[in-house]
Amino acid sequence: MLAVAIQENTPPWIAGLHEIQDLEVREDVLLAPMGSFRIGGPADVLVSPSSPEAVASLQEFVLREALPLTVLGGGTNVLIGDLGIRGVVVDLSGGFNFLHEEELDDKTVCWHVGSGCGTGRIVRRSVTKGLVGAHVLAGVPGSMGGALIMNAGGHEGEIGDVVHRVQVAQAGTLHWLNQEECGFSYRNSMFARDAIVLSAELHLQKSVNDALRETVSHAQKRRKSTQPLQKPNAGSIFKNPEGAYAGQLIEESGCKGWTEGQAQVSPLHANFIVNLGGATAAQVLTLVERVRQEVASKHGVTLKMEVKLLGDFGPELNVLKGELVNAGK
Ligand SMILES: Cc1cc2nc3c(=O)[nH]c(=O)nc-3n(C[C@H](O)[C@H](O)[C@H](O)COP(=O)(O)OP(=O)(O)OC[C@H]3O[C@@H](n4cnc5c(N)ncnc54)[C@H](O)[C@@H]3O)c2cc1C
Repeated sequence: MLAVAIQENTPPWIAGLHEIQDLEVREDVLLAPMGSFRIGGPADVLVSPSSPEAVASLQEFVLREALPLTVLGGGTNVLIGDLGIRGVVVDLSGGFNFLHEEELDDKTVCWHVGSGCGTGRIVRRSVTKGLVGAHVLAGVPGSMGGALIMNAGGHEGEIGDVVHRVQVAQAGTLHWLNQEECGFSYRNSMFARDAIVLSAELHLQKSVNDALRETVSHAQKRRKSTQPLQKPNAGSIFKNPEGAYAGQLIEESGCKGWTEGQAQVSPLHANFIVNLGGATAAQVLTLVERVRQEVASKHGVTLKMEVKLLGDFGPELNVLKGELVNAGK
């Protein structure tokens, strides 16, 4: 019945997870390799569901057992604590990595995209098929699920603009939310805190000329020349405050190049922190706070986090983590 032999000393809650259908369960999995920062301790348990029903059952289980649950997408906009993530971490990159196409009329196509689908695949397919809308993810790494949660995008627009509806699992129930209910705004959405985004329907327009390929290539080139892509990082650390650019404020405050251990404010783009090799989450978080304080004192602006802080940073830094998360809401 169970695909995996369960050891005698396995805690009962982990043994219980093994009984959920369509759910692969792995214990004590190091998360650093799963995020673009290459930082972070282990997950107690990493699970990979392969059906919406498995996700719903998982939610019922963690509710019953009062276990914390965290979803990790492509890990490109997160800083994971050095002590890892307690409870259950969900990875949708296996079972929810799909992209199906349906023609709606002579101008519009509907894409059914799983949350585990990578943005690179989405952009490549947009260009090949000449479909406008999801190309706004050009140069934005990660997964469809993360892009929906973050309402990712750039100069060309945001992914929320082309969302028709999104399937979520919440408290063990599966349902669909229309675009309005998703509450998309700048690098934000209004999915419930405990919702797991499973897939989306995107309505894309057939392009009438060859401009799309050019637009995507331009966006990718611009990012290559302005972002420190050679070093591990997690994209923009802070959101742009109303009417200003976080990177510019940080640069004007003199923080470019600041270091804390092996974490450095990128000399190329001040809103990026790079991992020079072996940086810890503690070093990154300490540097984040030094930059925030400096910008507040020089410009009177309190920057809010764009990067999500996940997991356990240790007793002292967990307090700072809590403050930063609350300030970012
Ligand atoms: C070099 C670089 C450049 C970047 N440039 C841009 C840019 O131009 N524009 C932009 O918008 N972003 C940019 N980013 C940030 C990042 O790529 C986006 O925010 C991306 O959409 C995050 O997706 P992800 O799958 O990696 O999500 P993750 O980083 O894994 O997760 C982000 C948040 O979403 C939650 N989450 C993820 N998937 C799900 C799900 N299925 N259900 C529920 N919660 C979920 C996580 O718990 C976390 O809180 C950049 C990042 C890097 C490293």
